[in-house]
Amino acid sequence: MIAVVAKQDLIDVVGAKGYLDRAEDLTLYEYDGGVDKHKPELVVFPQSTAEVVQIVNIAREYTIPLVGRGAGTGLSGGAIPRSGGLMVSFARMNRILEVDLANERAVVQPGVVNLDITLAVQGDKYFYAPDPSSQRACTIGGNVAENAGGPHTLAYGVTTNHVLGLELVMLDGSVVTTGGNESELPGYDLVGLFTGSEGTMAFVTKVIVRLMRQPEAVKTLLAIYDSAVDCGNTVAEITARAITPVAVEMLDGVMLRMVEEATHAGFPMDAEAVLLIELEGLTEQVEEQVEQIREVCLSCRAREFRVARSAEERDLLWKGRKNAFGAVGRVSPFYYVQDGVVPRTKIAPALEHIRKVSEKYGLTISNIFHAGDGNLHPIILFDQRKPGDLEKAQKSGDEILQFCIAAGGSITGEHGVGMEKMELMAHQFDGDSLDAIKSFKMLFDPECRLNPGKVLPTGRGCLEIRQKPLTPATTL
Ligand SMILES: Cc1cc2nc3c(=O)[nH]c(=O)nc-3n(C[C@H](O)[C@H](O)[C@H](O)COP(=O)(O)OP(=O)(O)OC[C@H]3O[C@@H](n4cnc5c(N)ncnc54)[C@H](O)[C@@H]3O)c2cc1C
Repeated sequence: MIAVVAKQDLIDVVGAKGYLDRAEDLTLYEYDGGVDKHKPELVVFPQSTAEVVQIVNIAREYTIPLVGRGAGTGLSGGAIPRSGGLMVSFARMNRILEVDLANERAVVQPGVVNLDITLAVQGDKYFYAPDPSSQRACTIGGNVAENAGGPHTLAYGVTTNHVLGLELVMLDGSVVTTGGNESELPGYDLVGLFTGSEGTMAFVTKVIVRLMRQPEAVKTLLAIYDSAVDCGNTVAEITARAITPVAVEMLDGVMLRMVEEATHAGFPMDAEAVLLIELEGLTEQVEEQVEQIREVCLSCRAREFRVARSAEERDLLWKGRKNAFGAVGRVSPFYYVQDGVVPRTKIAPALEHIRKVSEKYGLTISNIFHAGDGNLHPIILFDQRKPGDLEKAQKSGDEILQFCIAAGGSITGEHGVGMEKMELMAHQFDGDSLDAIKSFKMLFDPECRLNPGKVLPTGRGCLEIRQKPLTPATTL
């Protein structure tokens, strides 16, 4: 419980309109895009780094657990306050502080929505490359925490490849800057360490991001298949021929029908799978690659190959792809999105495994994913009102991820471990490796107060510590 005196101190920092504590308001902060839930006791909305420092200092004085929150679109329970306590929402730290086109970078607050960076610079023919499908809502702070990816990370890389510097508020109240405008700084790569640390080591209060120039030419292609296996095999074949599109996304037949009914983007209703492929670069080079890819797709038994003829047609195809989760919501009241990685050559067997899991549990599982990266996103449809359905969905997800590990892949490509996959970490890593991961967490948060109960499996993490009453001497 947050003591009354601590709560008053926090309200003094953020002001009367800078917090929420009524039960009905807190309900809106008890979940994210995943399936887990837990209410915070208080949500505060700081507007500056100085306010975040004061909040952290008060939380330390009264031993209050803390969790940061961006837009709450996370899919692994990262922003769920497992131990209750204080939620720090960065929604009001949402300003683009500086755009420096000459040096191709921008300085932004953590609550800036991902797409807003591109919107701010696209008139000058620049863009911010990492483009999660949630980019109209998710924040840069959340992207840094989760090391978010997106369709275009095949060519451009994930968030860590586009973050040049960070300002961080540490749990002792200090403000640390790491990285910066310079392309290389001496010392350890702390930006790399904090990017992807899932909000468990420090609060991000400022981000310096890389901006990129828009390419001269863009082409969006759609290859249509009567067999998901042929579609999966095409992905490995494109790489084998040393062609690197900027995006290779796959949608299976179940997903295609849901997306087309919702968006009328022009996807075929009767196909078993499609590849949505994007090429960028110099005009002649792109034209040449279109023909190379056409050849690969047709040789892998695509039944049709289309090239979007206009920017509108291209936008419509991407609208269908990026609004796919909304399309699923029209069909099923509940769904569970998984996020695993397999080597590209294992996409076809992975899809076959997912089909068998779907049959075993009697649940529809549709697939829409970043095929070029082997980053699977099976979407498991279930009905939470039916007893046992959620458990079946979770077991299905676990069995798919176990396959990914066995295939030499990973339990997460971009959504993070959070609380959803922490037990699977013990399958992904051996004990020594888990201890090494834990040692970084404990370096920055020895009392386990920042986002406790995440990432590390039970018995090796913070959950046990937070469940005991805390004393100053409580450390691992
Ligand atoms: C429809 C949909 C599509 C999606 N598509 C993609 C996709 O293509 N690629 C992808 O990678 N993800 C995707 N996601 C997942 C999600 O959008 C990303 O993980 C995103 O980065 C989360 O950002 P957020 O602002 O919503 O963060 P939240 O969900 O609010 O928080 C996520 C984590 O970040 C921490 N955090 C937030 N702000 C800070 C801060 N300032 N300092 C420290 N920690 C902080 C939180 O504590 C939490 O651990 C999708 C989600 C949805 C719902």
